[in-house]
Amino acid sequence: MQRFNLFSPTKIIFGEAKIQTLPDFLPVNSNEVLIVTGKNSSKTNGALNIVQTILKDANKKIVIFDEIEPNPLTDTVDLGAKIARENSIDLVLGVGGGSPMDASKCIAMLVNNEGSIKDYIKGKKIINLALPIITIPTTAGTGSEVNQSVVISDSETKTKTGVSSECMFPQFAILDPTFTLSMPYNLTVDTGIDALTHAIEGYLSTKATLSSDKLALESIEIIKEALPQVVKNRKDISLRTQMLYSSMLGGLVISKTGTIMLHAMGYPLTTFYNIPHGRANGILLPTMLEFLKESKVEKINTLNYIFRDNIRKFLNDLGISTKLRDYGIIPEDIIKFLNNVWGRRNFAITPKVVTREDIINLYKQAI
Ligand code: NAP
Ligand code: FE
Repeated sequence: MQRFNLFSPTKIIFGEAKIQTLPDFLPVNSNEVLIVTGKNSSKTNGALNIVQTILKDANKKIVIFDEIEPNPLTDTVDLGAKIARENSIDLVLGVGGGSPMDASKCIAMLVNNEGSIKDYIKGKKIINLALPIITIPTTAGTGSEVNQSVVISDSETKTKTGVSSECMFPQFAILDPTFTLSMPYNLTVDTGIDALTHAIEGYLSTKATLSSDKLALESIEIIKEALPQVVKNRKDISLRTQMLYSSMLGGLVISKTGTIMLHAMGYPLTTFYNIPHGRANGILLPTMLEFLKESKVEKINTLNYIFRDNIRKFLNDLGISTKLRDYGIIPEDIIKFLNNVWGRRNFAITPKVVTREDIINLYKQAI
């Protein structure tokens, strides 16, 4: 057996209508609750209303911060932390996609640690534990609900940076697939591909273990079957449940393995072209697998077997073009992209040395 540490402290409450069990998980001595959410979707899909009603019935005081934009900005996170500090918040709930969940984890950390999220992006040490966090996902993609990582965009440059700390593991994650039924076609695809790439990158990471590989393969196999079906049957709760389950597995995988070069190379596509996070990964996925095929022969063979040697077709059939030029990206952008990704720690856990020339060539191949 290999050597490893495994730490996955989030209590996962999974299944249809499980949101109704939220009262069982509210810490008795937490009374001032901050709900962190996006601007619209949690209002229209009912998640915010249900959570608010449950908290009111439990006699909790509620403050709602519904300003989180997709790819949350440092200024927005800091504003949330200011509101939390001013209201003596003692419990943070993240309700929504990865963006509100990531923001909620940062805010819970910042209440007990001074300064701006920018300081921690630059490497300031987190000294104190975060407030308790409860995550309630409404997309099936990021796995943020069960891991210790966040991705925040700088308000000025829009550059995305990850921050990771064991204190940002949520205490509870309530995964109720009902909330994902309202996702439209493209969001279902984009978030589904984010989940798929977490599992694939985790599987290929140099930090992969026997147990993370099991979870990764389970996640990949379910997504391969369920995603093409769920986009056509978006109100099918059984398919939505499978997608939420597999994205949760992806979140558990990357909490151990991290994401490798693909996530890093996808970030500038979001920063400079506003391409949704999961789609950005999907566009570059076939190019990365080709690049790594000699370094991870067995694992890439397994992936090729699952996708019948044509992961590009799998993506194209879902409506994802794997050509950068279809998104308006031109060769002149490549140096800008290189400067955005160079030095990111994702490359250190990629199972092959990646040079600056490699990165340039990979973007060129995908144009
Ligand atoms: P998101 O950015 O949270 O949300 C994207 C859009 O989907 C928003 O417009 C949102 O509306 C809407 N939406 C959310 N739930 C919906 C629903 N049930 N029905 C209809 N619309 C809905 O999307 P995401 O892909 O889940 O999260 C992406 C973010 O997570 C990125 O910043 C990415 O970098 C990060 N991420 C984090 C991790 C991690 O491990 N922590 C991993 C991967 C990605 P509203 O804005 O109105 O709510
Ligand atoms: Fe991701």
